[in-house]
Amino acid sequence: MERPKIGVFSLTGCGGDQLMILNLEDVLLDLLSYFDIKDFQEISSFKEDSDLDIAFVEGSVSTKQDLRKLKEIRARCKMLIAIGNCAISGGIQAMKNGQMEILERMKRVYGIEEDIYGVLEPKGLSAYVKVDLEIPGCPIEKEETLRAITSILHGDMPDQFDYPVCVECKLKEYPCVLIEKNLPCLGPIIVAGCGARCPGLGLPCIGCRGPIKEEANAAAELEVLLSKGYDEEHIVNLMRIFCANFGEIKKITEIIRRRSGKGRQE
Ligand code: SF4
Ligand code: SF4
Repeated sequence: MERPKIGVFSLTGCGGDQLMILNLEDVLLDLLSYFDIKDFQEISSFKEDSDLDIAFVEGSVSTKQDLRKLKEIRARCKMLIAIGNCAISGGIQAMKNGQMEILERMKRVYGIEEDIYGVLEPKGLSAYVKVDLEIPGCPIEKEETLRAITSILHGDMPDQFDYPVCVECKLKEYPCVLIEKNLPCLGPIIVAGCGARCPGLGLPCIGCRGPIKEEANAAAELEVLLSKGYDEEHIVNLMRIFCANFGEIKKITEIIRRRSGKGRQE
């Protein structure tokens, strides 16, 4: 049987999701032997511009060059898989979307108010092209990624988590850091799959896996954290670290900015 042809690509990001695939150490060689690898930047300089059965893409679309590359990848592949929070929703580089003009950001970071990189407001892949599967995380989880890849090899789409981190936290009987330590935990609105790693270490969830799509009640989370004495701007900034492009969080940001008289800068 012909092996599926795959490519693993990066747009704007840290490369951490490709690295997590490489971190599948124990099974990596076996796993990769099932595929015909046409491009995998972090393991080899070999590249072949052929059609692909599956393209794995990490990183956000943050430049015109990213967008060109993404469209070329989409045109080459049958299945496009977004790996990691950046590829799903823009990641931490989207944190200031809608709050600060791109040129203002260039000035703050590079000292010149000039579009030297053809920058775009950072967004996930699905803002521009059809995405067949999203694997969340910052970075992605090894086991979840392995499950997804093996399901696809069997011709199935993998099951996806549709409940919050709180469920995993309760199943593991971790003390609730929100209730017991008053820490601003985003577990109620963030999609499970990490095994409630941070609460398990006594830390609040800061939302690296992104919100549970169409289910996350960010307004209720805001109310809970306000009742704990947190300032609303602090809460919204916290939610925006990984989830700034999420509709509910964009709405809340806008209401709070209007209330504080800062208005919209888009
Ligand atoms: S610690 Fe966080 S994730 Fe765990 S139950 Fe409390 S709010 Fe939910
Ligand atoms: S607990 Fe939250 S921040 Fe920590 S790994 Fe899980 S989703 Fe990410």
